[in-house]
Amino acid sequence: MKTARDYIDSLRERKIKVYIKGELIDSDKVIDHPFIKGHVNAASMTYSMANSPKYEDLMTVKSHLTGKKINRFTHIHQSTEDLLNKVKMLRTISQQTGTCYQRCVGFDAMNTTYSVTYDMDQKLGTDYHERFKKFLLYVQENDLMVAGAMTDPKGDRSLRPSQQADPDMFVHVVEKNDKGIVIRGAKAHMTGMVNSHEMLIMPTMGMKEDDADYAVCCALPVDAPGVLHIFGRQTNDDRKMEGDIDQGNAKFGIVGGESLTILNDVFVPWERVFMCGEYQFSGLLVERFACYHRQNYGGCKGGVSDVVIGAAALMADFSGYGKAGHIKEKLNEMIHLTETLYACSLACSCQGTATASGAYFVDPLLANVGKHNVTKLIYDIDRLAQDIGGGIIATMPSESDLKHPEIGQYVDKYLRGVASVPTEDRMRIGRLIENMTGGTALVESMHGAGSPQAQKVMYSKLANLEQKKEFAAHLAGVHLNKNEVK
Ligand code: SF4
Ligand code: FE
Repeated sequence: MKTARDYIDSLRERKIKVYIKGELIDSDKVIDHPFIKGHVNAASMTYSMANSPKYEDLMTVKSHLTGKKINRFTHIHQSTEDLLNKVKMLRTISQQTGTCYQRCVGFDAMNTTYSVTYDMDQKLGTDYHERFKKFLLYVQENDLMVAGAMTDPKGDRSLRPSQQADPDMFVHVVEKNDKGIVIRGAKAHMTGMVNSHEMLIMPTMGMKEDDADYAVCCALPVDAPGVLHIFGRQTNDDRKMEGDIDQGNAKFGIVGGESLTILNDVFVPWERVFMCGEYQFSGLLVERFACYHRQNYGGCKGGVSDVVIGAAALMADFSGYGKAGHIKEKLNEMIHLTETLYACSLACSCQGTATASGAYFVDPLLANVGKHNVTKLIYDIDRLAQDIGGGIIATMPSESDLKHPEIGQYVDKYLRGVASVPTEDRMRIGRLIENMTGGTALVESMHGAGSPQAQKVMYSKLANLEQKKEFAAHLAGVHLNKNEVK
C-alpha cells in the first residue's frame, strides 16, 4: 500500500495538463497550486489513515484477487459487512477532513464495472471481465487513485447523444483499430480528477442502438495524450491565495475540486476497454454506479455534518449562548438529521445482495432514498448551523484586518465574545461554518451522485405502488379489478 507521501510523490511524476483561471499550470506543480493543495491533502487521508493502526480495520481489507492486504478504496465488496464498513469508513474520514476526499467515485466505478462486465460476458460471450480484473489488479498492486468519470456535458437535454447538433456532447468512439479505440468528448464535474492517477470512463445514461458509439467504458491515465483538464471555481476560492483563517478549512478545502476533462481523440488500448458498443448494458452500468455512489452520502455527509454540529456548538460556547435552551434544541435537531442520513446508508448496505460476479451490491431503493434525503436534510442541518452561528459568519472582517498593525486591535476587541476565548478562535470557527454551509458545499449535496429527480425516478420505479394498493384494498375488503380505473 502507498503512504500519503508515496501518493503525493507519484502525482508529481504525471505529465498532466491542467488549466486554472486561464493559465496552464506546470505539471509537477499542479498539486501545489493553492486551489488544488487542499483536495490533495484530503485525498491523501485515504492513504495515511489506511497506514494507521487505529483505522486499519476499516481502511484495509484482503484482496479477493490476491489475498494481500489492500486499501479498501481499491476493493471489490465481498459481503454486506464490506458494504457496511465502506459507509463507516467514509464517516470516519469525513470527521477528520470535514470535506470530500474524492476517492469514492473511482471505488464505486470499479465495483460497478466489475459486476457489469461479468454480466455482459455471460450474455454476450465477450471477455471484458478478465480484462477488467487485470486493470483492477494493477490498481490494487499500485494502490492507485482512480477518478470515476461518468457525467457528460449532455448538450440539449431533450435530445439523445446521436441527435445532438454537436456529436461530442457525450463521449464516443470515433475510431476502432486492431490495437484499440479512439474516444472524443468531455466529462464534467470530475471530482478529484486532477489529483488521481487513472480515470475510469463510463457512459452517462442508458443508450439505444443509434447511440451504440456512446456506450463506452474504458480506463486511461489522467495524463494520457489528448487529455486536458479545466479546473472549476468554487465559492470563496480566491481566499486560497491569502492566509488560512478566511478559508475556514484551509488544510482540506471545501468539497472535492472538480474539473471539466476534455478528451481530444484519446487512444485507449483494447486491454483497457470494458464496453464498446454494447448499448444494452449501459443503463445497468449507470444504475449500479448511481446506487453505489448514493450509498455513500449518509456516510460522507454524516461525518461532514458531525463537524458542522461541532462548529455550531463551539460558536455558541465562544459567544456565550451555548447553554441556552433553544441552542440545545437546535443542536439536537442537527444530530437527529445527521443520524437519519447515516441510518439510510447503513440500511442499504445491510440489505445488500450478491451479484452474479460475487461482488456485493446495495439495496437500490434504500440507497436512492438515502441520497434523496441528503438533498434536503443537509440544507436543514446547515440552516441550523447558520442560525446558531449568527450574522457574524457572513459579515466579519478579514484575517488581514485582524492582523493589521493599526486596526487589528479593533477587530480583536469588538469581535470577541466570551472574554476568555481569543477572538481569532471565534473567527476561525465562524469561517468554518461560513465555508462548510455555503455555496459550493450545498450544491454538491444537491447534485453530487445525481440530482434529486434522478433519485426520485429510481425509487418510484422500485417502490412497487401497485403492491401497496393491493395491501390497502385487501384490508378494506375491496376487490380490485385492474381494469376499473383508467
Ligand atoms: Fe466520497 Fe462523499 Fe466525496 Fe462523493 S462526495 S467522493 S462520497 S467523500
Ligand atoms: Fe460527491
